[in-house]
Amino acid sequence: MRLPFLGGNTLFESTKVTFADLGLSPETVEHLKSVGYEHPSPIQRDFIPPALKGVDCLGQSQTGTGKTAAFMMPVLELLKEQQEEPQALVLCPTRELSEQVAVEAQKISRFSKLEIAVVVGGRPLKAQMQKIERGVDVVVGTPGRVIDLFKRKSLSLKNIRLAVLDEADRMLDIGFRPDMEFILKQCPKERQTLLLSATLPSEVERLANRFMKDPVRIDIEPQNVTADRVEQFYCTVDENRKLQLLIKLLVQEKPKQAIVFCRTKRKADQLYNKFQTRLDGVETLHGDLPQSKRDRVMKQFRAGKVRMLIATDIVGRGIDVGGISHIINYDIPEHSDDYVHRIGRAGRLSSEFSGRAFTFVTQGQGNELTKIELLVNKLIPEYKLDGLETHTPRERRYI
Ligand code: AMP
Repeated sequence: MRLPFLGGNTLFESTKVTFADLGLSPETVEHLKSVGYEHPSPIQRDFIPPALKGVDCLGQSQTGTGKTAAFMMPVLELLKEQQEEPQALVLCPTRELSEQVAVEAQKISRFSKLEIAVVVGGRPLKAQMQKIERGVDVVVGTPGRVIDLFKRKSLSLKNIRLAVLDEADRMLDIGFRPDMEFILKQCPKERQTLLLSATLPSEVERLANRFMKDPVRIDIEPQNVTADRVEQFYCTVDENRKLQLLIKLLVQEKPKQAIVFCRTKRKADQLYNKFQTRLDGVETLHGDLPQSKRDRVMKQFRAGKVRMLIATDIVGRGIDVGGISHIINYDIPEHSDDYVHRIGRAGRLSSEFSGRAFTFVTQGQGNELTKIELLVNKLIPEYKLDGLETHTPRERRYI
């Protein structure tokens, strides 16, 4: 069963508002049209006007909703003149996401003369230092490398007018709290701070209370996006039958491109080793791999050469690849919030079709499934594959 072809970005067309209504300059609106952005998405519609007024904004929105442009448009609009030192800093949890943010920023800023630098670990430090030396206006990067460059006195933060914390919940999960705090303390107090987060747990609230001034809150419900665009199922299975189930599912579903999520790097490697010799176009992506390999894999995945990517949450998050038709949660996510991020990889705005997500649930994980259902606010149906004994029957429990 295939999902109906959506034929366009229904999410955008649902907003009658235009970019001009949001207070963006006519040149920006014209440029956006030329890159195919006709209508703002809900997060853009709600986030851009207050951000343009210069106030701190806290937006709850997941990737795939156009959130990058939601914060990047005001940033680029508010920084008009080129200056010697960086004026805006965007912190992201991963290297891949930093690069994606920079690509999006380039796309929407092509008409402006602002220089954007990506500073992430795993890449030659020298090239990044030279780029900064030549003069950049916007720095996008991961906290570790930002601090490294700051301590080496290559990167100055004293001229920062806008600080953006992208995927703040994820940065806190990874353990970047001290780094983020350190960085924000080095930025001028009278800056504007924009924070984007898929979820708003108390740690994010605490960070906002400490480093933001009466932020305007913009909440876009995650389920509006994921539930609409991704058809979700769960499969009950015993741990030792997961591989069999996955193979059968792949044969049946014939995904255009799929991401298979595992909880640990080790598990991702093990699964990859099992597939490597059986199937072409399989790759793995996790935080232990050298940056060059991660880049190569991402490039091949974007180009459609890799059809199945076996990944962990950290790198899987934020990937914006239009061809992803299937998400397979080989392991149910440890934190239910991650579920939303994982399935958000399919049914992206940049994709012309919606996706399908399958979550493998072993005995005793019923409660974890229920938590996910509460989060996405819907009951996920069970998916049964003919002729495959995947589990010892069990009862689902609901809380
Ligand atoms: P993001 O949520 O920032 O990862 O964006 C998801 C995708 O939507 C990216 O590929 C963007 O280029 C695209 N996008 C963002 N805003 C718009 C818009 N207003 N119209 C069409 N596409 C958009």
